[in-house]
Order: sequence, then structure tokens, then C-alpha cells
Amino acid sequence: MTSGHQSLAAATGTAGTPQPSATTAEPAPTRPTDVRGQGPQHTGYDVIIVGSGMGGGTLAYALKDSGARVLLIERGDYVPYERQNWDPVEVFGKGRYKNAEKWYDVDGKPFSPGTYYYVGGNTKFYGASLARFRREDFRATEHQDGASPAWFMQYEDLEPYYRRAEQVYRVHGDNNDDPSLPRPDSFPFPAIGHEPPIQRIADKMRKVGFTPSNIPLGIDLRQGGRCIRCKTCDGYPCLVGAKLDADVACIRPALQTGTVELLTNSYVEQVLTDPDGSRASGVKLIRDGVGHEVGARIVVVSCGAVNSAALLLRSGNERHPDGLANSSGQVGRNYMVHNNSVMVAISPWRVNTSIFQKTLYFNDFYTKGTPDHPFPLGHVQLIGKLQAPMLKGSRPEIPNWALAMVARRSTDWWLFTEDLPDPKNRVTLRDGKIIIHWTPNNVRAHEVLTRETRNLLRKVGYPFVFSQRTGIEVNSHQAGTVRAGTDPTTSVLDPDCRAHDVQNLFVVDSSFFPSLPVINPALTIAANAFRVADSIVEQLATPASSAVPAP
Ligand SMILES: Cc1cc2nc3c(=O)[nH]c(=O)nc-3n(C[C@H](O)[C@H](O)[C@H](O)COP(=O)(O)OP(=O)(O)OC[C@H]3O[C@@H](n4cnc5c(N)ncnc54)[C@H](O)[C@@H]3O)c2cc1C
Ligand code: SF4
Repeated sequence: MTSGHQSLAAATGTAGTPQPSATTAEPAPTRPTDVRGQGPQHTGYDVIIVGSGMGGGTLAYALKDSGARVLLIERGDYVPYERQNWDPVEVFGKGRYKNAEKWYDVDGKPFSPGTYYYVGGNTKFYGASLARFRREDFRATEHQDGASPAWFMQYEDLEPYYRRAEQVYRVHGDNNDDPSLPRPDSFPFPAIGHEPPIQRIADKMRKVGFTPSNIPLGIDLRQGGRCIRCKTCDGYPCLVGAKLDADVACIRPALQTGTVELLTNSYVEQVLTDPDGSRASGVKLIRDGVGHEVGARIVVVSCGAVNSAALLLRSGNERHPDGLANSSGQVGRNYMVHNNSVMVAISPWRVNTSIFQKTLYFNDFYTKGTPDHPFPLGHVQLIGKLQAPMLKGSRPEIPNWALAMVARRSTDWWLFTEDLPDPKNRVTLRDGKIIIHWTPNNVRAHEVLTRETRNLLRKVGYPFVFSQRTGIEVNSHQAGTVRAGTDPTTSVLDPDCRAHDVQNLFVVDSSFFPSLPVINPALTIAANAFRVADSIVEQLATPASSAVPAP
């Protein structure tokens, strides 16, 4: 097959682009179109990035003005703009956008993972809750089931990059209302504010001694921004391009520079190395059933924690018999995903009229426990307003009218508790299939958090509170499978997120996390990608990396 290729940065078009609400001033986003059937144009790039989600997309943006020639490779396509983007029956009932293959548990039982293969990765569907980790998260913390380890860096190391990520993802927040995060700087945009039913909950929570805060959000509600504050944001793609996902915030601006190219519908099967195995030489990808090899001076893997581990394991060779960069045996291990519950609180007397509900969280249990469990419990935040078709999947036996009645009167919460890195929780491959070995730990803390949150919600006016733990398929916060650290015997990556074993191989998605602090991870992934970009630029400037290897 020929490897003729047209730069996607040049191939932009507007077909299918929806028009935003008449109240918005910004022009509608343009959509780069893919060039089907064509492979990569060049034989050598400075940087290849595999995976265009939060880590990979942000890194492409961070490198866009560096002078480096970057190829971003994505196995999926663009999410189409279509009215079904905002249709709960299509999105939740029919799983219209679910496109990941089945993964398997240790008993060989298949499940459909909560992961998406598109330009922008999982961020196309995320809730855009973009919080920083806390200072304490970078230090060791004792839990009942053991210690959550210290990171290889401090909060202060990431702080300037958090600031940059908040600018690029246009985070709206309130500087003063969250006592768990003292910040020296302001959010780029003011908090988006609660609707009356949520404000009422916030006021009541304060009266009983809690400290509800505004969720920092990456949606474009600036003056003149494109967001119409709709009810189908968390879990849905944004029909008007107003959610600051990796595609909208980073990849599109990066493509406009002409130094970054994007190859969609291209599955990277393997990272290739030079004969002595000390350097990555490029990747082997499959596009339209045809294999291509593409070379680069630096290769960055950013496929999401599970797929990045799988790619490294698949890339083993004579010099790396147990998988690429796996002399420590740690690739795939320490898979973390949070212990999660959905909690639905119902007041029979009050209709929840909120449209955009996801504005409030509280961190009163972030570092604290209770007298009967004196360890950190976790974090609680509102999710997007549940609608009847979204409940149908877990309660198929209940008629639609009853679900609609519940949904009208509920407020809907997500509870997360930290799970601890355990080498036995891991990703492996069997006959090329992904196997997830997962036994939840630190579960008692989650039970106590559930109890305490239920009590709180009753106090603030919700007598009926139901909760459900999530299972192996809810892995939206997957992390930890290619951990970074200073010791090459216990970590895969060095503190620059470069493989200890392969000097020009980096990993920038959530797999580098040594622990999974108990708040949404995406802003930290983005901040770290900005940090790693500095090391990549530095490495490109060194003579040792000047040759473009031929794979
Ligand atoms: C419904 C939902 C809601 C969420 N809400 C929030 C939230 O509010 N806040 C928050 O912080 N986080 C949220 N998350 C989690 C957040 O989206 C992830 O933490 C984040 O996207 C992870 O970034 P990543 O770069 O590690 O991986 P991803 O964003 O998953 O990107 C990985 C990319 O790699 C591609 N890829 C995989 N394998 C290959 C291959 N072999 N070859 C080529 N390409 C490949 C994938 O297609 C994908 O595009 C949510 C997730 C979901 C699903
Ligand atoms: S609320 Fe979310 S989905 Fe709706 S317009 Fe705003 S960013 Fe888009």
C-alpha cells in the first residue's frame, strides 16, 4: 500500500458542523476531515504520539510551537456532530458511541469497558470536572488497607503546569470556596454557579457544618462562549463544541499550526526499537487493514492506562522479552480505578428543576474519616442530571413512567474513594485480548463514605437515598499501570515520564500515576503532559537524539 498522506491540518472543512445557540458569539468550530485510505506522509517525525486523549492531545498542543514535527496517531475517528449527541436513549440506552472491544476479567468473562476510541479519547464524553490534586495527594497517606505512596514530585512541581492547563481548558471555578485547596492564583474564569435547587442544598449543607464548593469546570460559559448550559453534558459529546475536551481545546489548535499532523483510524500495534533495544525507532500501525511503519526521534505512548500497558506488553522483542520497557516487571501492574458509587437522593415533595446539575462537590471527607474509621474517606460530587433512559440500563424491570418520576425528583451524586496500588491488580494479555485482574481494596472507607453521605443527604431534605457500587466495567478513572518513580526496579518511568529502559520513549496518560488521589484525574494528566513536553523539547535539542531512525 502506498503511504501517501495529506496533512490533516490542511484538510479542514465545515461540513456537519452544528450552529451554536443564537446567544453565543464565537464562530462554530470547524472540523478537520480525515483522509481515508491514506497512510502517513513522512518516514521520520520528531515526535510520534500514540493516542489523542487528555494526555496525548494536550502534549500535541504543548509541542505545537516547539518547532518539532509531530504525528499524533489515533485508533478512532472524530465523534460525528449529530442530533443524537444529546439524545439519552441513543447515548445511554443504545450505546451509540461505545466502540471499544470487549475486555475480560480473570475468569474470562467479557465486559464492555467504559472507554471510548475517538479523537479526544474519553474526554469527548467526560464531565469536564477539572480539579487539581491536593498537596497531600503527593505525599504518602495512611489508609486502613495500607499506604497510598508518595509521588516522585511535589504539588509545587506541578503547580505552574496546572495553571497552564486551566487556561487551555478554560476552567471556571471559585478561588475561595474550597478549603481543601488553598490556591495562590485565581481560576481563569468565574465559577458557573448553582441553579436554585442546588443552591438550596449548598445552603443547607453549610447549616449542618459542611463546606460545599463549586466544581471547577471546563465548559465554555465565558461571556460570548458557546455553551448553552444544557442537560446532556456529563457522559455525552457536546453538539456545539463548547466542552473543553482534548479535541476542542488542544488538538484543533495544534493542527492549525501545520507542525502537528493527525492520523485517525490508525491502530498502533507495536512500538519498534533499534536492534540493541535501547531506543524506540517508531511504531507499527494498522490502517484500513494495512500495516505501516513510521519512524520518529521520540515515541510517546498515551493510549489510556489499560491500552498503554497493553501496547508495551505487545511490543516485546528479543531485547525486551517481557514487554517493552518492562525490566522491572511493573508494566500493567498497580491498576487503579477508584471505588465508586452512584447515589440517588429523592425528595417526593420537590421536583429538581436543575438543567446543568453538576456544579457542587464537597471535600469534607477528603483527608478525614470518622471516629469509627479514622482514615480518609473520599470525595463526593454531583453528576449530570439523571434522566429516565439513563436509569433504565441498571433498572430494566422498572417501567419508564416510574423512572421518569424518580428522575424528576432526584439529585444524583458520585462518590469516590481512593483504591491503593496493588501489583496483583493488573492488565495482562491472553491471545491478544485484554485481561483485567481487579480486586477492589480500601473498601471499608467507601462503605463509611456511603453511610456518611446518605446521612448528610437525609439531613438536607432527601429522605430516600439509594446507592449502587460500580463494577469492573466502570473504569473511566483508570490509572497506574506504567508508574513513574525514581527506582527502576519498582517503576517503569523516570520522573520525566521517560522509560527507564528506553531513553526516547515517554508515557503521558494516566498510567504514570503512582497513586490515584480521590478526585477527577484529567486536569492532572493535562498538567503533567505540559510538564513532560519541556523534557521532550530538551531531549530533542540534544545531539544524541538528532538522528531520525529508520524503522
Ligand atoms: C463518561 C466519563 C466521564 C468522565 N468525567 C470526568 C471528569 O468530569 N473529570 C475528569 O477529570 N475525568 C473524567 N473522566 C475521565 C477522563 O476522561 C480520563 O481520565 C482521561 O480522558 C484519561 O486521559 P488519557 O490520556 O489517559 O486517556 P484517554 O483520554 O482515554 O485517551 C486515550 C486515547 O488513546 C487511543 N488509543 C488507545 N489505544 C490505541 C492504539 N493502540 N493506537 C492508537 N490509539 C489508541 C484511544 O482511542 C484514546 O483516544 C471521565 C471519563 C468518562 C468515560
Ligand atoms: S453544557 Fe456541556 S454539552 Fe451542553 S452546551 Fe455546555 S459544554 Fe456543551
